[in-house]
Amino acid sequence: NAHASGKLYQFKLVLLGESAVGKSSLVLRFVKDQFDDYRESTIGAAFLTQTISLDDNTTVKFEIWDTAGQERYKSLAPMYYRNANCAVVVYDITQASSLDKAKSWVKELQRQADPNIVIALAGNKSDLSARRAIDSEEAQAYATDTGLLFFETSAKTAVNVNELFTSIAKKMPLEQ
Ligand code: GDP
Repeated sequence: NAHASGKLYQFKLVLLGESAVGKSSLVLRFVKDQFDDYRESTIGAAFLTQTISLDDNTTVKFEIWDTAGQERYKSLAPMYYRNANCAVVVYDITQASSLDKAKSWVKELQRQADPNIVIALAGNKSDLSARRAIDSEEAQAYATDTGLLFFETSAKTAVNVNELFTSIAKKMPLEQ
């Protein structure tokens, strides 16, 4: 049993971003491989977990915290992300304002969160590219300048969702 001899690393991951960009949908896709066009907003969810096997000896377990829609009503308490090891900051490629909001979340994390936090930027709803408002190259350049991982994702079609979380897992500090 490879797992028994291997190591399990656990990290707290938070999702941030404007309302309706698809944060809960990305979590639902990653954790349950499901998508719901008509889903209700998250209400008071705690957290979900999902594991990724990087190799026979290394398993990463994410404890994933969604905002429970609180960003709609008030600013999120710093308590939400204070002890996070990693963050996915999400925008919607069809909503220009959502990238500005994502950038302000990144700034807040870089000021207030753990200095070693691993941050990924996700441009979600890539299946709606006919309505694209945000250039992929522009977002990639911003991410590179800022030291963020970057993926364009679709929670709907599953494009790049596993890749996003796997690349975060690979960037986490794991002992050799
Ligand atoms: P949240 O408020 O950021 O958690 O956003 P939700 O996950 O609740 O998603 C908001 C709306 O966008 C819902 O109607 C989802 O079905 C839809 N949605 C989420 N992700 C995608 C996606 O990748 N593609 C498309 N076309 N719709 C999406």
